[in-house]
Amino acid sequence: MAIVRDLTGVAEQNPAIYPGQVTIQEEDPTVFETRFLRKIKDLGEGHFGMVELCQYDPLGDGRGELVAVKSLKPGSRGQLACHLRREIDTMRELYHHNIVKYKGVCSEDGGRSTKLIMEYLPAGSLKDYLPRRKHQTDLQRLLLYALQICQGMDYLGTQRFIHRDLAARNVLVDNESTVKIGDFGLTKSMKEDKSYYTVKERTDSPVFWYAPECLVDSKFYTASDVWSFGVTLYELMTYCETHCSPTTVFLEMLHPTQGKMILTRLVETLMAGKRLPCPPSCPDTVYSLMRRCWETDPENRIQFKELITEFELLLD
Ligand code: ADP
Ligand code: MG
Repeated sequence: MAIVRDLTGVAEQNPAIYPGQVTIQEEDPTVFETRFLRKIKDLGEGHFGMVELCQYDPLGDGRGELVAVKSLKPGSRGQLACHLRREIDTMRELYHHNIVKYKGVCSEDGGRSTKLIMEYLPAGSLKDYLPRRKHQTDLQRLLLYALQICQGMDYLGTQRFIHRDLAARNVLVDNESTVKIGDFGLTKSMKEDKSYYTVKERTDSPVFWYAPECLVDSKFYTASDVWSFGVTLYELMTYCETHCSPTTVFLEMLHPTQGKMILTRLVETLMAGKRLPCPPSCPDTVYSLMRRCWETDPENRIQFKELITEFELLLD
């Protein structure tokens, strides 16, 4: 047996030695070719990239699989390309039930630009999904989503990653009983953080998801992700409705005048111990978990493992 195996090995490495044998060229299933990728529609746009629904149809019979393809917005190159590259490297290493699955990459312009190919989740992000499904989604279901986000985040922590942009817009819905974390690795350097603070359209500014240490020192810990999870939990409990979104409520609390004032006032407000209010019809037990995510000192915050235990108890 050992000899047969050894000979097979030799044949694979040196196909020319055995001319009679047909060698099957193993294709790398994570390499997608541009020419077979057909755009169907836009799925969304974030700070750096855009995501499109495409069909990958190498056989040309219109039955190829649907995939979500992330690329940089036109015109953005250089440093931003680096972020997408890093996001690809991150996603490639992650494998968890509650994390969007990496499928591969697609190189263009002779390798000068790369697109990220992911599994396609037709229901979109929680932010798209929840407001429409309010009446079909009860408290138990919201807590199940919260539990799954914590399970994905706990795994991420064990893999020594910090997400840095956890928010309902970055959690995707697989089916009505499964959500997955997406949008990885767009690491925010200090310079980009500043551009966030001065953003003109404030609607999706991530500052309202950031912990004080991120706002003040640009330091991110796993505990900073816990803070952002608390804000995401708030979004879940408000069914991601815009009129009571973190952005809307914080802006009402701050009465800011200019872009730069927002950040200063937000830090003052948080340091004074003020927090997002308990959403209507959110049980005290759930609000108290949010508050434990929003301890000023990162060391005092609840951890994802403990959150998992708490949500499991609530779901029992
Ligand atoms: P950005 O880094 O630009 O914020 P995201 O990865 O958050 O990019 O994607 C932006 C939006 O595109 C998401 O909020 C979601 O609506 C949509 N989207 C992203 N990935 C997928 C996917 N795999 N399936 C379906 N929709 C997706
Ligand atoms: Mg995003």
